[in-house]
Amino acid sequence: MTNLAISFSDVVAAHRRLSGVAHHTPVLTSATADEMTGARLHFKCENFQRMGAFKFRGGYNAIAQLTPQQQAAGVVAFSSGNHAQAIALSAKLFGVRAVIVMPKDAPAAKVAATRGYGGEVVLYDRYTEDRQEISQALARDQGLTMIPPYDHAHVMAGQGTAAKELIEQAGPLDVLITPLGGGGLLSGCAVAAKAMNPNCKVYGVEPEAGNDAQRSLREGRIVHIDTPSTIADGAQTQHLGELTFPVLRELVDGVVTVSDAELIEQMRFFAARMKMVVEPTGCLAAAAAMTGKVDVRGKRVGVIVSGGNVDLARFATLLGQQQA
Ligand SMILES: *Cc1c(COP(=O)(O)O)cnc(C)c1O
Repeated sequence: MTNLAISFSDVVAAHRRLSGVAHHTPVLTSATADEMTGARLHFKCENFQRMGAFKFRGGYNAIAQLTPQQQAAGVVAFSSGNHAQAIALSAKLFGVRAVIVMPKDAPAAKVAATRGYGGEVVLYDRYTEDRQEISQALARDQGLTMIPPYDHAHVMAGQGTAAKELIEQAGPLDVLITPLGGGGLLSGCAVAAKAMNPNCKVYGVEPEAGNDAQRSLREGRIVHIDTPSTIADGAQTQHLGELTFPVLRELVDGVVTVSDAELIEQMRFFAARMKMVVEPTGCLAAAAAMTGKVDVRGKRVGVIVSGGNVDLARFATLLGQQQA
């Protein structure tokens, strides 16, 4: 493989670092889901991961590899939610100071949880201000190391451990489907899946309102879009990363989209049938499998359920909406 930011050995090393620290999350199956799809679906439940999402894997793997000097100075991260909590918690575990730049309209539970993990929160307006500029200024003025949410080799390798672990738990897969925002999760998982099962097809799923990744792969360049309006707040990214895009281009077999209504239907399925609280973004991959947008019939399928952080009031409101 030529010049990709990470290789499988990076994912293996990340998995070793996370051993005994990250939860070995369960892989659940559902006879109903299998019956509805004609597939054998294996749901990797990262909604049960520490801080409620797979992002702990990448955040911890990144902070673990900082120099002692960098750890002494602290880190800064910008995030619409789960990356913030991942960095706050990981930093706390290493005794490192964490400054988190978050949008003012981030879900209240995510802001509160980030503070609860000891993160120092700086709020900004995501429609008028540039989070990257704010973070860079903080990094420069206070000597902090910036840890981006997806476009970072150590983050990507950490996220890939979710797929490695899933395949170790479930056995070989014909298809792996993951949610897709900036591509940290999908790139890491694609590297792991293709190394472990070269014939495994790998798909990413993004919100219909913001199909920049689908367009980027079609056009062969990183397409930038305005912040998409979708309930999948963890995938409201404006573009893929310079490190994630080449990995997706080389290893990913396709990107599909699902609508907010389909995400709500999937949240309802998880709650009613599998007794799980899954946040809208966490439903992307499962919704693609259940609606047949990725062809899963007759196949052994891995589905990354990426997170479960959703305000309970919002969860109730979304589930209470009229059925699609
Ligand atoms: C961040 C996030 C994603 C998207 O991950 P990327 O690495 O940005 O593609 C998906 N689901 C949840 C729950 C997330 O927090």
